[in-house]
Amino acid sequence: MGTLSSSLLAWYGRMGRSLPWRDDPTPYHVLLSETMLQQTRVGAVLSRYEEILRAAPTLEALASLKEEEMLKLWEGLGYYSRARNLWKAAQKIQEDGRFPDDYEGLKALPGVGDYTASALLAIAFHKKAIAVDGNLERVYSRLRMSMKEGPGLKKEAGSFFLEELGEEDPSAFNQALMDLGELVCLPKGTPRCEECPLKGLCLAHHERAELQFPKKKAPSTRKTVHLQVFLLSYGGKRVLRIRPDKGLLASLAEFPNAETDDPKEALSLLGLRAGPLSPLGHSSHTFTHLRWEMDWHEGELLSPPPEGYLLLDEEEERALPLPSAFSFGRKKRVPGD
Ligand code: SF4
Repeated sequence: MGTLSSSLLAWYGRMGRSLPWRDDPTPYHVLLSETMLQQTRVGAVLSRYEEILRAAPTLEALASLKEEEMLKLWEGLGYYSRARNLWKAAQKIQEDGRFPDDYEGLKALPGVGDYTASALLAIAFHKKAIAVDGNLERVYSRLRMSMKEGPGLKKEAGSFFLEELGEEDPSAFNQALMDLGELVCLPKGTPRCEECPLKGLCLAHHERAELQFPKKKAPSTRKTVHLQVFLLSYGGKRVLRIRPDKGLLASLAEFPNAETDDPKEALSLLGLRAGPLSPLGHSSHTFTHLRWEMDWHEGELLSPPPEGYLLLDEEEERALPLPSAFSFGRKKRVPGD
């Protein structure tokens, strides 16, 4: 057993996190948890994982959900394309009659990229693979003082840890690295090097240069968009609509909104006629490449909304999956939701 793997696995035996999907790492449980963990922190996933498993205890049960039921189950987790892909992947596995257990077969599932395929291989099937995410990149970069960033760093980290894995259990080895990155070799602030099982092997620690790695990418430019958003009623019903079936938050519900600083102009762009508007406040929502600054208004329509809008009673509105970008409005409309 190599020094790195033996120190790491001994530490994992003592300090590894107890997570619900680790108790019974079936391929379905690993696929579900890894899909949920993409772009979402463990703390936020914990309670929702149990909830989704209660509604869909098996892959077969998940595949048999209706698309709206799947999206409703995912509500609040964001990045809804993950939910759709997971649902489609479950259906494909059902149709094929088996869960693939090789890299090519896994990559052929909707939404399964290199990371999730590797995590499934290692954790669910105990095959030699390394699932490289930001945690592993950071640990590797500091261990070796790597000057790489982006895909180059990912590739180097994968090869390095694959070699260090040796004949150890890939499942424990991968999860130990994930935990080390989350709990000790922290992404923000000072890493807890004194608690780190790899400190004797870590070049950045030796040089007291931990915070200089990984090398930073040039900052991305995120566009800011100003939206006027409306909580409107007509005949006692709420006015909503469904977003286009392509692009950001595709096919999900939203409160009527338009990109402008002027609420009157927004109503005209939306083809709506409303009485006096009351300001409700401001919220913002950040996507990967975009930030929405949202001014909220409330009012009554003076005439029925044109085709394309939905008029819903409160129960129907509650049943509709609403992206978290619009949760400010839902809280205003449905107190306690
Ligand atoms: S010694 Fe410090 S910098 Fe090096 S891997 Fe451990 S926590 Fe990260």
